Amino acid sequence: MNFTRTKIICTIGPATEKLSALRKLHSNGMNVARINMSHATHKSAKLIIDRIKKINSETKNENGKIGVLLDTQGPEIRTGDTELPLELKVGEEVTLTVRDQVDVETSSIKINYKDLIHSVSQGSKISVDNGLINFKVLSKDEETLLCKVIDGGKLGSKRHVNLPGVRVNLPSLTTKDLEDINFGIKNKVDFIALSFVRNSEDLDKLQAILDKKKSHAKIIAKIENQEGLDNIHDISKASWGVMVARGDLGIETSLTDLPNIQRRIMYACAKWGRRSIVATHLLESMINNPTPTRAEVTDIANAIYEGADAIMLSGETSVGKYPYECVNFLKSIAEKTEKFRTLGYENNFLPNSDWQHIGVAAKNLAESIGADGIIAITRTGKTANYISNSKPHGIPVFTFTENKKTLNQLSLVGSTIPFYLTGLFDHEKTLIKVSKILKNFYKRDNLKFIMVSSIFSEEHSEAIQIINI
Ligand code: PGA
Ligand code: MN
Repeated sequence: MNFTRTKIICTIGPATEKLSALRKLHSNGMNVARINMSHATHKSAKLIIDRIKKINSETKNENGKIGVLLDTQGPEIRTGDTELPLELKVGEEVTLTVRDQVDVETSSIKINYKDLIHSVSQGSKISVDNGLINFKVLSKDEETLLCKVIDGGKLGSKRHVNLPGVRVNLPSLTTKDLEDINFGIKNKVDFIALSFVRNSEDLDKLQAILDKKKSHAKIIAKIENQEGLDNIHDISKASWGVMVARGDLGIETSLTDLPNIQRRIMYACAKWGRRSIVATHLLESMINNPTPTRAEVTDIANAIYEGADAIMLSGETSVGKYPYECVNFLKSIAEKTEKFRTLGYENNFLPNSDWQHIGVAAKNLAESIGADGIIAITRTGKTANYISNSKPHGIPVFTFTENKKTLNQLSLVGSTIPFYLTGLFDHEKTLIKVSKILKNFYKRDNLKFIMVSSIFSEEHSEAIQIINI
């Protein structure tokens, strides 16, 4: 059995949005499909979601259902439209403007953020297009900034602008985000990622919307700037999962400090028992090349050592030339890395509730008797989450639920292998059904499992037992 704990998220785009492509990504190991609302329209997103629902309806349990993650654009600042890319040379002086009408001043670069002028001062750095193009502010007047090009290049339309260290004065949920979130709720996406999260109140606002609309979508907080990082513990507590959004983090904070920042975020996730995602540039070179660099392979293994629930591909699968090969590499690196005996992540976890202690007890028991797996019987997914938090080494968590929403959301819970099963309130019958499924899964007898269940026990009490089948 090629079991891997680490889940794989693929961003879907022009290279992979066809039904056949989605099928292939899934059979190669994709667990979650990400739709990036910075690029997708409601129309293109709907098509993708419908195709995934079709694949899910045809999918047997063993392959797992594909979860759908809708990623909001968030309060992003962008440059305006330009017909031809603007060639910017190092040392050159350019003006950046927040004026609405700029057609008279062709030499100005329009920025869609009114407070830009007040937010920066002489000497401030402005980064464009993921840090590829950089400006230094020389002087400013009411509506324009005079800047010097520090790193030049070709500037296309609607490029992403970062103001490192500046607290951007935009609402955490923009009008576009609210429309996209409503779209996501209507189409029953499994996860909603909130971009540029600054504090836990940002998440409370989204949760209130979800509650009002009776949505069970889980919230992923994207940590993309210094403020989010400063509040990482409160943010982790208020969210279901956290994404280390290394693209923006590498510009907004310190690029050379990024490995430590990643560790801090992963530690917070382990501490509070939250799902963790490492994102951006995992296989960047594979957008154009069929094999990764040695550094990329090592970086991915490192994310797995740190206990990531999921690793995420962006351009690699949305526009890259080798999307399927990328997934194969992630899968193969996960297989090899997870087998390594001295994975560091076990030490990160500090159980701080009864549930979490149950998770650790199940893991310890499973490891000490050399169990073939842990069985979790769950309705909301809570039991599976707590067992996953303890990161059992090389041991799958067979998760049985009669809740289809939970089934999809397990796509982002490390170590779990989900199964749909009804009638869970009947302990005896459930045991018989589960035994049959697992014998069939392993194609042999003499299997040993640890079973954790709460559905048929008293409220707030869990049963842990050893089962031989
Ligand atoms: P993005 O987020 O791809 O939506 O920008 C991820 C990141 O910043 O790393
Ligand atoms: Mn980002």
